[in-house]
Amino acid sequence: MTIGHPSWEELVRHLETGEPDLREHTRRCSRCDGIVKSATLLLEGLRNARLPMPPRHLVEATLARVTAEASRRPGFAAKLGSALREIGAALVADSRVPSHALRGAATAVPRMLLYETDRHRIAISIAGGNTPGTTDLLGQVSPKTGASLEPGGRATLSCGTESLEDSLTEFGEFAFRGVARGVHRIAVELGGDVIRVGDIDDGASSEP
Ligand SMILES: [Zn+2]
Repeated sequence: MTIGHPSWEELVRHLETGEPDLREHTRRCSRCDGIVKSATLLLEGLRNARLPMPPRHLVEATLARVTAEASRRPGFAAKLGSALREIGAALVADSRVPSHALRGAATAVPRMLLYETDRHRIAISIAGGNTPGTTDLLGQVSPKTGASLEPGGRATLSCGTESLEDSLTEFGEFAFRGVARGVHRIAVELGGDVIRVGDIDDGASSEP
């Protein structure tokens, strides 16, 4: 024999308003009686808890520390206020386009790629590395407006399961040398932005 239990919504409504009246059911049903009893205990506990406010001096000390940190590290306040802004950089120029078949990836003349976001330009040069089957990716980030770049930037290169990191120089340069050829992605973290560049295919997949 099966008992028709009230739904969860009916149990909650019963606790809040007394309707529907489930007392007849809970007298006979230990399952629902248990749910109602523990929910009642929980609600009472929450009502009686009256969680205390942290002491005023602790709140002030914490705020002061956060403010000091924000003034020391550019971008810190922006990160606190909201998640990092993620932007995909758009490819605006690729020097390889007309002559890849002639040049290949291992010749001396690097391939140049130019990417743009609303605030930055990212130039990347790709040339064969010293070891066969490897690539050197050199990049430079420059601001579109204003002369100086936000300090503390870094670039991360990922290619398959490999991941490499480099800090930007004061001129916005970064370098990844001797990277296995393949499809590369670069993420530049700069002043609260994460700029995504790629996929960059260095031609390994199209070679015999
Ligand atoms: Zn029941």
